[in-house]
Amino acid sequence: MAQLDSGDGFETLAIHAGQEPDPLTGAVVPPIYQVSTYKQDGVGGLRGGTIAGAASGPGRWIEGYDYSRTANPTRGALEECLAALEGGVRALAFASGMAAEDCLIRAVCRPGDHVLIPHDAYGGTFRLFDKVASMWGVSYHPVPVSDPGAVRDALAAHGARMVWVETPTNQLLSIADLPALAQLAHSAGALLAVDNTFASPYLQQPVALGADAVIHSTTKYIGGHSDVVGGALVVSDAGLAEQLAFLQNATGSAAGPFDAWLTLRGVKTLPVRMDRHCSNAAQVAIMLANHPAVAQVYYPGLADHPGHETAAKQMRGFGGMVSFRHAGGAEAAVAMCGRTRLFTLGESLGGVESLIEHPGRMTHASAAGSPLEVPSDLVRLSVGIENCDDLIEDLRAALR
Ligand SMILES: *Cc1c(COP(=O)(O)O)cnc(C)c1O
Repeated sequence: MAQLDSGDGFETLAIHAGQEPDPLTGAVVPPIYQVSTYKQDGVGGLRGGTIAGAASGPGRWIEGYDYSRTANPTRGALEECLAALEGGVRALAFASGMAAEDCLIRAVCRPGDHVLIPHDAYGGTFRLFDKVASMWGVSYHPVPVSDPGAVRDALAAHGARMVWVETPTNQLLSIADLPALAQLAHSAGALLAVDNTFASPYLQQPVALGADAVIHSTTKYIGGHSDVVGGALVVSDAGLAEQLAFLQNATGSAAGPFDAWLTLRGVKTLPVRMDRHCSNAAQVAIMLANHPAVAQVYYPGLADHPGHETAAKQMRGFGGMVSFRHAGGAEAAVAMCGRTRLFTLGESLGGVESLIEHPGRMTHASAAGSPLEVPSDLVRLSVGIENCDDLIEDLRAALR
């Protein structure tokens, strides 16, 4: 049985946290408990014994099981691992990132409450606030979260139950100063929720920087192989964790066992993948910044990126996402997206394979006409972990 030490590093936790060998068979990875219900040892006597009870670790998920919507051992293993990686008291795994976001909003907000969201938020997050939460009396206000002064003013003008932040943000890679925003949010009586999808816990741990809740689309870097959709919430407060777990069970938005298992398989290699994503993306960003067909590059690793210093303070690396504006305009940007050989034209991000997309007509189409509309000449790259020279040559050829 893996004995984890409080000083164990991230790479060790990614492989061992929540993932003790199966006490029944010795299986080295947690099995897929593809099961809906569990035999009870007498009415109300949930089994605390062999399989679940023998697992070591903080043991959040080892109490008896009754029904897999409420708890499932494979999902529990993933949740324990994610809580360890983010340094939170508890994690919950969901069927998708959007299901996680929905659970957080509904657990925290009541009709009449107000939320500040990034003015360049992920399109699906904007849609959830604009078209769904608004129907239940929860209003929102977009702010440039990279500007603490703007957040302070918005808090003074509108108040907020929650300050919702992405950093880096989903399309323009802007950077929010998390300790500064935590202080502003808390002194206004608001929670700070951080969508950490772009950075992953390997590069940035928002709880340690003051966040109350961390949101993940585990579909992206945590899963890492473009083969499963999932989401997670990690929180720093046990009371909030209880409220979220109650709502997750009451509404039935949890991840299934096989999806949880795939995600857990992915997360083991998160540190080595992220290192390569970061180094490949940095080289791609430098090439683009020097290319005549490129008007502007958005990558927090570039020294002239406005968030570079903040990113360097709160992140271990600058990530694998690069956006840029094509100097030839919208049609040239769209045409380029159809001309790459290795970069696959597709939505999503964070997988081992490189992807290219046109946010204005794809991932962020739902923000068209809103304050969150993206430039029409913007191209977004999810730089994968292929050979970097091959990737750069592919982009050069498509820009030609
Ligand atoms: C993809 C994504 C989401 C939504 O997650 P799903 O797993 O697609 O539901 C939320 N936030 C960010 C930043 C994302 O990139």
